[in-house]
Amino acid sequence: MIHDTPNPCRSEARLAIPFEALDALLRHEAEEHDLTLRPGPDGGIWAEVEGGTLGLRHDGGLAVLSVRAPDPDWLHAICESVDEHLAHHAPGTPAPVWTGPRPAGHLPPNFSLARVARIERLTADFLRVRLEGRDLARLDRDMIHFRFALPRADGQPTVWPRLNAAGRTEWPDRLHRPAYTISGIDADAGWLETDVFVHPGGRVCGFLDAARPGAQVGLTGPGGGGIPRGEALAIGGDETAYPALARIIAAQAPTARIAAHLFGARPDYPFPTHPGLAITHRPHAEAEVAAEIAAAPPVDQYWFATEKARLKPLKRAILDTLAVPKARAHLAAYWNAAEPSDD
Ligand SMILES: Cc1cc2nc3c(=O)[nH]c(=O)nc-3n(C[C@H](O)[C@H](O)[C@H](O)COP(=O)(O)OP(=O)(O)OC[C@H]3O[C@@H](n4cnc5c(N)ncnc54)[C@H](O)[C@@H]3O)c2cc1C
Repeated sequence: MIHDTPNPCRSEARLAIPFEALDALLRHEAEEHDLTLRPGPDGGIWAEVEGGTLGLRHDGGLAVLSVRAPDPDWLHAICESVDEHLAHHAPGTPAPVWTGPRPAGHLPPNFSLARVARIERLTADFLRVRLEGRDLARLDRDMIHFRFALPRADGQPTVWPRLNAAGRTEWPDRLHRPAYTISGIDADAGWLETDVFVHPGGRVCGFLDAARPGAQVGLTGPGGGGIPRGEALAIGGDETAYPALARIIAAQAPTARIAAHLFGARPDYPFPTHPGLAITHRPHAEAEVAAEIAAAPPVDQYWFATEKARLKPLKRAILDTLAVPKARAHLAAYWNAAEPSDD
């Protein structure tokens, strides 16, 4: 049963919210995000969430939330995500006070500092950036994404995030935190690599342009979805998704059949080879590919990531026309032509 899974890190919070209200909220979120729900031993429920489990049980009419995760960084990330959901769906209720050792003043468990060790031209469109740091083991998993926390751009010393007395992350400086993909990692040797698509006006590109070897940067994560696996996959994306597509291709069994659609202006990335891989390159052809997918036999897994507006036809084809459950479809907006990322 789910509450017997080996998740040694635990935290609980008692909430001044009726059990029924939270029960309804958890069921609604489970429906929305295709989370598996299971009954708990005490009339409560458990949900499988990204990185662990989230339980809800009665305590004298009130609700107790409990989070379990394999390690402290995931525990922290799930508690923070619950805090954000509650602040959104039940505004005005006091923020949960989670049990457990989360010492004030320390770096959050899902954050670490790294230094730029090397920036090299990978292809005409991509830079490969090697970052060195300690505490990278949390990023060496099937979860393949992290967020940069870029230092202040005005030359003033950056104040990195800290845990406050309630165990929550505080960001004294509002730092830009765009998501990227880990293209290679050796946590024991203390490095990870990420491949940056060079585009005009990008703050990451600006930071790398100016960065000297040894420049400090923050890393949060992991997060943002893992690697789908199946015997037949339809995957694709624009340049921002090429590093993730490469990781997905590299992780498939040799018997898998992978139809990979590249929507970038150029197919300018070192994709791995695979016996079942068929790559097609059609710039900005998301709508065309969506129509083809809607008319084709279903596959085990759909994974697409591209610009927000261009993702829409793929969402309609896969989620609406084919009614593929979200557990078999990862469809993500990796950037937004209408506006820069807000962090
Ligand atoms: C889970 C996830 C993983 C990602 N992995 C990678 C990765 O491995 N490599 C990678 O290069 N990107 C990746 N991205 C995309 C990346 O986060 C965005 O491109 C982000 O906007 C880059 O931040 P920035 O600071 O460079 O740009 P910002 O300073 O936020 O934006 C500056 C301007 O650039 C525009 N812009 C942003 N992206 C592009 C683009 N691709 N083409 C043209 N204009 C653009 C914005 O609309 C804005 O006008 C990923 C995104 C997600 C959600």
